[in-house]
Amino acid sequence: MTEAQMISEIAERVVAKLYEADPQRVIVGISNRHVHLCDADFRTLFGYDEPTVRTMVRQRGEFAAEETVTLHGPRGTMERVRVMGPNRPATQVELSRTDTRALGVKAPMAQSGHLDDAAPIEISGPAGRVSCEHAAIVAGRHIHMGPADAAALGLADQDRVSVLFEGERGGRLDHFLIRVKDSYLAELHLDTDEGNAVGAKTGDHVRILKD
Ligand SMILES: [Zn+2]
Repeated sequence: MTEAQMISEIAERVVAKLYEADPQRVIVGISNRHVHLCDADFRTLFGYDEPTVRTMVRQRGEFAAEETVTLHGPRGTMERVRVMGPNRPATQVELSRTDTRALGVKAPMAQSGHLDDAAPIEISGPAGRVSCEHAAIVAGRHIHMGPADAAALGLADQDRVSVLFEGERGGRLDHFLIRVKDSYLAELHLDTDEGNAVGAKTGDHVRILKD
């Protein structure tokens, strides 16, 4: 662990302690378009095995990589799309609805890992190109949390909740999927379209509404 990673880990834990008293408040993470690659696709695109850590993200073990790719759809291309690590069992391209229109890709809204109906898309990197049959989705909005936070809120994995966003725009968004895992830190994930619509940014705190 580098000094910067250690400082960020400590800062996260301090903030987590401060908010422990109020589990209804949760930190926002806005996800820009990004890709998760399987080992085989990563090797084809880059010519080596593993992505290089650029910045660790809030969820433990996950990181934004130095590597970027180009996405190719029937209507357009998008360059410098960030690769997230570590590699996953299946390649997954997460886009906003605005991105899907620009690319001409008919991606369904789906939760991460649910790729049966995901749209085809082509990806190129410095060492090659891959054509993926089921990879492109608009990620469904969701909230990560550990079992203790879930219990404090009376929530279980796969529940759905509404969230209140304050501020100049503000608003209420519904149907956030609750995702509970031992390793998760509480964090709400939105894409850029959703974040812009309610004027939210990464690091904001918002309130989970109890029905
Ligand atoms: Zn997430």
